[in-house]
Amino acid sequence: MKFNQFVIIGLGRFGSSLGRELINLGYEVLGVDRDEEKVQELSNILTHAVVADATEEEVLRSVGARNFDCGVVAIGDDIQASILATILLKELGVKKVVAKAVSDLHGRVLERMGVDRIIYPERDMGVRVAHQLVSPNLLDYIELSKNYTIAELAVPNCWSGKSLEDVNPRGRFGCSIVAINKPKGMIIAPMAEDVLAQDDVMVVIGTNDQIEQFQQSIT
Ligand code: ATP
Ligand code: ATP
Ligand code: CA
Repeated sequence: MKFNQFVIIGLGRFGSSLGRELINLGYEVLGVDRDEEKVQELSNILTHAVVADATEEEVLRSVGARNFDCGVVAIGDDIQASILATILLKELGVKKVVAKAVSDLHGRVLERMGVDRIIYPERDMGVRVAHQLVSPNLLDYIELSKNYTIAELAVPNCWSGKSLEDVNPRGRFGCSIVAINKPKGMIIAPMAEDVLAQDDVMVVIGTNDQIEQFQQSIT
């Protein structure tokens, strides 16, 4: 299902960054925060921004929260407010409810409430940055499941001019290159004779172990 209208509860660093980006992407965003200053800051950027306490049912009703496809509860530190705002959005019938959790326990509570997606921004960013710091060639990655990953790896200088057959990732590590992102464009499903160059990025799929070994052969 494609969502067009978002309501964001809490316009701290996470909520405001999310709201700005959704606007940049061309979507409608209603922002709600009890802090007037936060609302002022975003009033010219978001479609609508209102000063309100999102733990009051009447308030959420009056801003028409139920008409939104997706609600994001971006309150963190005040766990009680996060939980109350979340249950209210769900009860109002918002189709998809996403919430930010500041701790594991907070996340477990949200999970039991049937929240569609729980985000742990600080925890997840810490994990991501750790991976990138220990492997300089790793630009980004997606965990497909517990064991499988897609990684974006920068091509090391010593591989410039080599073909996939020369580098032999499938033979040596068992992982496949699903795409090569070149400054001129993408090669999707590259073949053995496709050649790597210095500014290229390889998109690699495999088990975590395979990707890890492939990465280590680069660094
Ligand atoms: P971030 O980590 O995203 O920067 P923060 O640490 O600044 O957030 P949080 O406590 O996570 O602050 O709250 C985010 C925002 O949610 C704040 O701007 C706060 O005013 C707002 N907020 C908290 N409780 C409510 C509430 N009951 N109704 C509306 N807004 C709320
Ligand atoms: P294989 O038996 O390993 O599947 P193959 O004998 O069918 O390969 P090619 O498809 O020509 O031969 O590829 C030769 C080698 O080039 C492969 O063993 C593999 O290491 C590498 N290779 C080719 N395409 C890719 C790719 N998309 N991702 C990773 N490695 C590739
Ligand atoms: Ca915070």
